[in-house]
Amino acid sequence: MTNAVSSSPRTNSMKPVISRTCSNDASTHRFFWRPIHSSDQTALACGGIENGTGSLRERRQSRRAGEDEPKTTRVNTDAKPVSALRFSVNTKLKIPFAIRDGRLIHISEVESGRGHGGTCPACNVPLVARKGAKMRHHFAHRPEAICNPETALHRTTKILLCEEINRAIADQREVTASWRCSLCDSQHTGSLLKKARSVRLEHSLTTCRPDLTLFDEESRPVAVIEVVVTHAPEEHVREFCHREKIGLLEYHITDEISLDTLRPLTVLRARVGSVCTRKKCPLCTAPLRSVQLFVGDGKCWKCKSKMKVSLISRDWLKDGPNEFNAAALEIAQERGAIFRLRPPNDAGRRLLANSCPRCRSITSEFFLMDYGYLAGRGDGVFVGYECSNCDWKRSI
Ligand SMILES: [Zn+2]
Ligand SMILES: [Zn+2]
Ligand SMILES: [Zn+2]
Ligand SMILES: [Zn+2]
Repeated sequence: MTNAVSSSPRTNSMKPVISRTCSNDASTHRFFWRPIHSSDQTALACGGIENGTGSLRERRQSRRAGEDEPKTTRVNTDAKPVSALRFSVNTKLKIPFAIRDGRLIHISEVESGRGHGGTCPACNVPLVARKGAKMRHHFAHRPEAICNPETALHRTTKILLCEEINRAIADQREVTASWRCSLCDSQHTGSLLKKARSVRLEHSLTTCRPDLTLFDEESRPVAVIEVVVTHAPEEHVREFCHREKIGLLEYHITDEISLDTLRPLTVLRARVGSVCTRKKCPLCTAPLRSVQLFVGDGKCWKCKSKMKVSLISRDWLKDGPNEFNAAALEIAQERGAIFRLRPPNDAGRRLLANSCPRCRSITSEFFLMDYGYLAGRGDGVFVGYECSNCDWKRSI
C-alpha cells in the first residue's frame, strides 16, 4: 500500500469511506471504514467495492467457505494495512446517550427497545435501548450497522459538554476546570466560565474548527476544548490557539462510564491545557516558579544530635542553602537553621550548607535529599520567584 492515502471520512449516507492507491495494480480502492478484525486486513489490503474485485463481504464469505479469491484480485499477503486502519477499537463501548430532536437523551429516560426514537450521535442510525439485568444499560446499534464506537464516544462527549456548558451558563453556575499546564508542567485549576457567555460546537475559526469554542460577551473566542479519544488535537488548532492567545484544553475520554460524570457538569478534568495561571517573567514572559522554603527536624549524620534542616523547592527542583535567596536565608535562620561554608569543592567554590549546632558537621547536598520529603508537607514559606526559562529571580 502506498502512504498516499486520500480519505473522505463521510459519504452522503454517513458511511465513512477510505480511498487509497493499491500497490498491486495502482488502481484506487474504496472501503467502508469500520471496526476491523485482524483477519480482515488481508481483504482490506487489496480489493475494493467499486472496481470489480468483489465486495468485502463476498470476499470474506468466499474465504470462510474455503474458496479461492476471485481471479481478478491479486492479493498481496505481505502488504501491511494502512496505519489509519490500525487503531484499537473498543467494540464493547456501551454508550448511555442517543440523540433525539437535536438533544441528547440518557438511557434512564427511555423504555427498553426501539420505541424511543433516539439515533446514534455519530452515524445517525436508530439505536436500540438495552436495559437488561446483566449489562450496564446502553443504546446499541443493530448488528449490521457500520459505526466506529470511538467516533460515537467522541461525538457524544462533544455534544454532552456543549449542552452542559450551555446549561451552566444559563443557570449562571460555576464550572471549575483543572488541567496539567503545558507551559509550566504543574496542575492548575480555574473557572471555566469566568469570561465565557456562550459555547458553540464545531464552530469555524478561520483556519480550524475546534470541537467546542467558548465566546465572551463580545463574541470573541476565549477558550477552546478539544475532546480526545484516540487522536490528539490537530496541529492547526494548537497553532491557531497559540497565535490568537486562546486557551486550549484537551479533555481525554477513554470509556463511556466517564460520560455520566459530565452531567451535571461541575468540574471539567482536562488532561492538558495551554493556559498558565502563574505570574510571568518580566524579562522573557515564561511562567515563574514560586520558591518555597522548608525547615524541618533532622539528625546530624555524625553525632546524631537533633538539628534543623532547611531546603528550598521550586516545582520538582530542590536545593540547599547555597541556592537560597536573602529571604530564605533569613527565615531559615529565624527557625533555627545554622549554616556554614563547606570546604572548597573541585571548582574551588565554597558552598553554603546546613550545619550541626553541636559538632559543626555539614549536611551535604547528597544527604539533604534524604529530607526531600519536607517539601511534600505543604507548610512551605513563600520566599520569592524564579523564572523557569531565564536567570531572573526575585526575593520577597
Ligand atoms: Zn453510530
Ligand atoms: Zn502553568
Ligand atoms: Zn553533629
Ligand atoms: Zn525569564
